[in-house]
Parts: sequence; structure tokens; C-alpha cells
Amino acid sequence: MRYISTRGGMPPKRFSKILLGGLASDGGLAMPETYPSIDAAGLEKLRGLGYRDLAFEIFSYFADDIPAADLHGIIERTYTAGAFQNEEITPLKTLERGLHILELSNGPTLAFKDIALQLLGNLFEYVLTKTGDHLNILGATSGDTGPSAEYAMRGKHGIRVFMLSPQGKMSPFQTAQMFSLQDPNILNIAIRGVFDDCQDIVKAVSNDCAFKQRYRIGTVNSINWARIAAQIVYYFKGYFAATRSNTEQVSFSVPSGNFGNICAGHVARMMGLPIRNLILATNENDVLDEFFRTGRYRPRATSETMHTSSPSMDISKASNFERFIFDVTGRDAARVKELWRVVEEGGAFDLVGTPLWEKVKDYGIVSGTSGHAARIDTIRKIHEQYGVLIDPHTADGLKVGLEHREPGVPMICLATALPVKFSESIVEAIGQEPPRPAGYENVERMPQRYVVMNPDADAVKAFIAEQG
Ligand SMILES: *Cc1c(COP(=O)(O)O)cnc(C)c1O
Repeated sequence: MRYISTRGGMPPKRFSKILLGGLASDGGLAMPETYPSIDAAGLEKLRGLGYRDLAFEIFSYFADDIPAADLHGIIERTYTAGAFQNEEITPLKTLERGLHILELSNGPTLAFKDIALQLLGNLFEYVLTKTGDHLNILGATSGDTGPSAEYAMRGKHGIRVFMLSPQGKMSPFQTAQMFSLQDPNILNIAIRGVFDDCQDIVKAVSNDCAFKQRYRIGTVNSINWARIAAQIVYYFKGYFAATRSNTEQVSFSVPSGNFGNICAGHVARMMGLPIRNLILATNENDVLDEFFRTGRYRPRATSETMHTSSPSMDISKASNFERFIFDVTGRDAARVKELWRVVEEGGAFDLVGTPLWEKVKDYGIVSGTSGHAARIDTIRKIHEQYGVLIDPHTADGLKVGLEHREPGVPMICLATALPVKFSESIVEAIGQEPPRPAGYENVERMPQRYVVMNPDADAVKAFIAEQG
């Protein structure tokens, strides 16, 4: 398997060569040259496999330059019942006949990002150990990404994490998740500012090519192909758990932000998994719903991005969306380059009236938007009706999913975080605090380790340089 760029300007590369990179050199995103195709016999073989074996089979297509025995070891170390609280890794919970929740948030930081990032941590360490290289990961977080990245990279050889967060702006729980880590290779930097200040610093440092190269600066953002590949696995797992035979179709509802999660569903469908619809749910920040309803993709300015009660979906532009449009154009890199030239200049594109808009409909993505009142209402109703407590992001997915439910087609709703991370909304919905999983009882009272800095890229650079 070789990887090319959505903008056509990267010579084909193998998996290990794109693993540590962010954007391709031409500003595009890495994509497999062709998708693996799994036929009826192939699906039959996969049905019945446990999570680790399934992950190995799927990942073998994408990471075929890692020796099978090594890949096997990496996957066995990653998806353990210890780390994910369950031998199933992503268990399926049935609410009623034909309506299911796929639990993706039982990992170490209680959010679905763990599924990809836990694997990424082990893959990074493996590749760096082979080359004798090291990597300084620089990131900015407003909530879920920071803890997932830190828990994935803690104690890993050759890797150091510098994570910027806006001082005092995250929930006490999320702050404690990150700042309580005592591993010497995890460095928390609380910035006197807001999330955008943190992101601006990451951009400024990344744009300084000499510094970036000298200090081996890398990222773990959601455009990383390995993250998408890792997420494909649970679409298969969920499908097999909700059906008896491979002739059945299912639909998935996906709470969406950067289009990473649903992009994995799209790839699973392209590989031959019998998915009828992928139901894309946005919150008040409805850039993606607007596109699937109207054909117009209009990324917003950060100043137009609302802070909502499903904060991990507060995005103004969806990085991974470019991968989907690449497929819609029939993999016409010149067309993608032209569309994103306009987007990067702050513009929008409109596919209505072009043959591409008709093609979009072939991919089975339907969409809808949820808001605060609907979110709270859904949490309350699901709790009353089924005795199951869901988080605000999952609630957005369920709300939109139920609007698109079809008789005879099982619906699998992806649960992307545990309620405990968003206790304010849970109390608003059901009048009581969400339960705390074991190990998190006193997390806010643990000793915290972080430095505080002004929103100043040079100061952050100096700090990175000091650590070597
Ligand atoms: C990141 C995140 C999302 C959005 O996923 P994308 O891959 O960015 O679309 C949804 N819910 C939660 C809880 C998240 O952390």
C-alpha cells in the first residue's frame, strides 16, 4: 500500500514514511492509493474475530511495511482489557431492537480519541526506536485531545509532549487529567490566554522550518492517516455485533467535528462494509450539516465559532473533509487543489449545479444539527426510557440519528465520551452527578505538574530548546 496526497504533489510513500508527518509537503492529506476491497468471503472471515485480531487484519492492509509479527505485538499491547475496561474494547449496548450504542469511550481518558491515539503512541515509539530518532510533539488543546495525546505518549521512548492549554479555561476534570501526569516526558504549558492563542503559538512554531527541523517538532492532530485507519476497525466491530449475517445493512450516527470519525466510516463503506447511511450530526457549529444539505462548504472564522455544551465538536473548518471530497471528485487532485485554494483564502465553495453534487449522494451521508436544548432533552429521555446515561456529544448523535432512523435498518450510535467529563450538562439533564469510573475518584486533588507562560511563541520555543 502506498500513500498519495489529496493535492497530487507528493511522490507515493509507504505507511512508515507518512506516520510521523502532518500535512503532505504540498499542503494536502495522505490517502491510500486505492482502498482495500473486502468481498463476501472476506467479511465472513472477519465476523467473529475479537477486537485485536480484527484490528490486525484491517491494519495489515494499511501498514504493510511493518513486519506482521511486530504489528501484531503493537496491537496486542494497545487494545488490552486493562486499558479499555472491557475485553470487547468497543462493546455494543442495545437500547431496543434495532437501536444500539457503540461504546468508544472506555479508554484511559474516557473519550473515543483514545482508540486511535493509544495505538499511535505505540506505533510512534516503534518507528522511532528503529530509526534511533526522537520527536517533540507540540499540541494545543481545549479539552479532549490533550489528555488522550498525553496518556498515549506518557513514558514512551524518544517522545516528548509539549501541550498548550488556555489557563483556567478547561473543566477541572480535564485539567486534572492532564496536569496530574508526573511522567517526565509530558510537559504541560498553561497559557495566559484563550484556546486560539495556544493554536496560534503552535502555528507560529510549525512555520519556523529551521526550528521545527532542529527540534524535531511533530503533531498528533486528527489529519494523521493512522488515526483514521485505527478508527475503521470499530465500524467493522460494531457492524458484526449488531447483525447476524453480512447481507444486512446498518446505519451509523456519528457526532462530528473535524470529520475524522465519519471519514473512517466512509472508508469502511468503500472497503465493502454494508453500511446504508452514515448520519453526520453537528452541534450549533453546523458547517458540515450545511454542506450535506445545501452543497455549499463555508468554513467559518474562529470568531464565528460558538462555545457549546458539546465542546469537542466546536469546529469552524473540518480538516478531514478534504479526504472525502478527494473521493467525490473521482480522486482528481487538481480539482481538490483548486477547491482548497479558495478555502484557504477564507472563501467557500458550492457544488450545486456541478456533477459533483449528484455524486455526493452516492456516498450515503445524511446530516442534521443539534442544539443545547435538544442535547439536554435527549440525555434526559434516553436516561428515562432506557436507564442509560450518555454524554452531550453522543446525545447530539442520537438526536440526529433518530430523525433519520428507517424501519428494518439497525442504527448504531457512536458514543464518543463518558458523561463524567461533562457533569454540568448531566446535572442539568437529570439532576444528579454522573458516576465516576474507578481510578478517577480523586483526580482533581492529585498533585499537578505544569508551567504557566504568556501567549508568546518565542517563550515557548525557548522552553522547548531548554529541554533539549
Ligand atoms: C473529537 C470528538 C468528536 C468529533 O470527532 P471528529 O473526528 O473530529 O469528527 C466528537 N465527540 C467527542 C467527545 C470528541 O472528543
